[in-house]
Amino acid sequence: MDLIFLKAVFKEKIWGGNKLREEFNLDTPSEKTGEAWLISAHGNGVSQVISPKAYKGMKLDELYQKHREIFGENLEDTFPLLIKLLDASDNLSVQVHPDDEYARIHEGKGERGKTECWYIVSADEGAEIVYGHTAKSKEEFVELIEDGEWDKLLRRVKVKKGDFFDVPYGTIHAIGKGIVILETQQSSDTTYRVYDYDRVDKYGKKRELHIQDSINVSKIPHSDPKLEIEEMISDKSKIVKYLKNEFFSVYKYLCDGQLKVFLDDNTYYLMTVVEGEGEIYADGKKYNLNLGDSFIVPIGVKNLELKGNLEIIASRP
Ligand code: ZN
Repeated sequence: MDLIFLKAVFKEKIWGGNKLREEFNLDTPSEKTGEAWLISAHGNGVSQVISPKAYKGMKLDELYQKHREIFGENLEDTFPLLIKLLDASDNLSVQVHPDDEYARIHEGKGERGKTECWYIVSADEGAEIVYGHTAKSKEEFVELIEDGEWDKLLRRVKVKKGDFFDVPYGTIHAIGKGIVILETQQSSDTTYRVYDYDRVDKYGKKRELHIQDSINVSKIPHSDPKLEIEEMISDKSKIVKYLKNEFFSVYKYLCDGQLKVFLDDNTYYLMTVVEGEGEIYADGKKYNLNLGDSFIVPIGVKNLELKGNLEIIASRP
């Protein structure tokens, strides 16, 4: 079966910039583009097929419903994952996401909770994220929020290109200014905003906060999820396995020259080129890969061969 290449949906954001166009060659609509939903079947932004011709123009939600031969049997009713590239030219709001149950009860419409994870594609010198908080109890958490003691409450962590962060539901987090990330997440658009730096939009309006929901769903006290990163080296290339949780597994394929990747042929994979360019061979066919390309590898593909100098972030449900 052919690899399925997809076209992104773009989101303008108060904190967005122009790196997705300048560094990734994506066809962004504005100078404040914050997010490219690269592989998405979520109702708030659905990716479209670019190739193969047979599915050209079809939306991913429809492809998922009508062509289960690409994805497999015994699947979730709706496409479970969402892959995004984010350009934070300013700080994102401090936020937290619910788990599946809370999202179902409070957001309805089949909305999922949101566990996400981040691969840092690039970061300015000294760039920081908010990752967790310092409160020992719910009382302390509420008190620090009510008093606006953000410096005391929020835990800041310096990041650099190539870092990886697991951000399970219930984790207080924010991507900081000067960072581009590739995000692998559950297909969900539910965000509870705790703090937005008292920013106003072009109409002088502050964005809505969701303090009570944030208090309800935040993990208190915070503890860093443990990452058990595995590396498989082959000549100058390598495969990195970052994590496996109940929703997805995430890998990096770093190809310097060539790299053979063995896949689990019982599932499909989602892939994005985050650096370089080259070629990929799948099921006897060759495809060119450029920076920013996103594609689905259908179920049943047993191995891939990469050539060139490139980095791919891959995930599977
Ligand atoms: Zn988030």
